Amino acid sequence: MRLVFLGPPGAGKGTQAVMLSERRGILHLSTGDILRENVKRRTEIGKKAKSFMEKGELVPDDMVIEMMIETIKTGNKDKGFILDGFPRTLYQAKKIDGELEGLNLPIDTVFYFKTSIDIVIFRLTGRRLCKDCGANYHIKNMPPKKEDVCDKCGGELYQRKDDSEETIKKRLEVYNSQTEELIGYYRGKGILKELSGDLDADVVYEEIFGILKKDL
Ligand code: ADP
Ligand code: ADP
Ligand code: ZN
Repeated sequence: MRLVFLGPPGAGKGTQAVMLSERRGILHLSTGDILRENVKRRTEIGKKAKSFMEKGELVPDDMVIEMMIETIKTGNKDKGFILDGFPRTLYQAKKIDGELEGLNLPIDTVFYFKTSIDIVIFRLTGRRLCKDCGANYHIKNMPPKKEDVCDKCGGELYQRKDDSEETIKKRLEVYNSQTEELIGYYRGKGILKELSGDLDADVVYEEIFGILKKDL
């Protein structure tokens, strides 16, 4: 099972990917998480990526592609993988498709999380993450039991710097101008499945699971 989760920032891609990987053992590869980890560790990739991420711009294609190919190659893919937030440009999509064909690991299904703009903004402005384990919360939709404390590990919650209103606006512009065209690209390949990202997380999960269950 090799999947791509496509949709605007805040659509709930990461939330669903975590649910699917925890319940079904599918490798979850979030480009954003991998980049943020590189920034934290001050690697060469992290140093180059930081300013783009802070501005809400895309990190240059070739850097991200190389990083993701390496991650896919070295990861445990026995149960397959989910590419979350990658590809994000047509160039990335064509490159990774070629690479995966060569490895005999083509993408089976692309889930497009169709999500309303007002919902996306509400979700991103209220998103909180755990400093220690990375768990994802929302101050209204999925609040932790105790304010600013992670249910899973007791770590402190924080807000991503790029989840500020101004940077969210920029990221949505970038999505509209560079990523949205991937919907047509994957629809043309006949592997696109559309779902409503507006619905509750459990409902979205059931929808994904319903589509995949014959292969799980
Ligand atoms: P993405 O990975 O697409 O950017 P996230 O999974 O990080 O999105 O979700 C963005 C925010 O919305 C998070 O704070 C998350 O807790 C919350 N969220 C995710 N899915 C849903 C949902 N179906 N309904 C309500 N809130 C959600
Ligand atoms: P979200 O889904 O909430 O937009 P991500 O965590 O996926 O956020 O991405 C955060 C930032 O990391 C992006 O704004 C961008 O700078 C960088 N990034 C993530 N994925 C890619 C990608 N495929 N190509 C280029 N840059 C990326
Ligand atoms: Zn935690």
